[in-house]
Amino acid sequence: GKITSAPITKEELGRATWILLHTVAAQFPDHPTRQQRQDAKELMSILSRLYPCKECADHFKEVLKANPVQAGSQDEFSQWLCHVHNVVNRSLGKRIFPCHRVNARWGKLDCPDHSCDVQGKTIYP
Ligand code: FAD
Repeated sequence: GKITSAPITKEELGRATWILLHTVAAQFPDHPTRQQRQDAKELMSILSRLYPCKECADHFKEVLKANPVQAGSQDEFSQWLCHVHNVVNRSLGKRIFPCHRVNARWGKLDCPDHSCDVQGKTIYP
């Protein structure tokens, strides 16, 4: 789909937002710092307040309450996000996405020399 000409629909905004969120999760570090874990949590709560579709934001607040953010690792965060996306899918009557396929659907960005990597904790320096 194209996301170019205004006005942006609720569906386009949703697709664009999920692209951002799943890509952030795909590139989330395997060993995030405390700050990165907190940032993941804050990103989601800010989204639940500022998301420019009030019905979506209000619903997402409830989803977050029932499913607290899990961002202890790349795998945990991307699986958590897949799950909450499925909660939204279910409420809209959409298909449930198989979360074991989330890494195949949402890969890391194709950037040379790891130049798009997010720096996490180095366990083995
Ligand atoms: P989307 O749901 O936008 O998904 C885009 C692509 O992601 C899919 O084509 C698929 O390839 C992949 N995908 C699907 N499910 C998963 C998953 N579980 N894990 C990983 N990848 C997946 N719309 C409303 O009408 N009411 C709401 O209350 C509402 N709340 C929303 C809350 C949030 C936080 C967000 C980001 C969006 C919300 N939306 C809401 C928009 C809605 O979720 C969809 O984005 C929109 O309806 C377009 O749907 P779509 O079928 O194109 O696929």
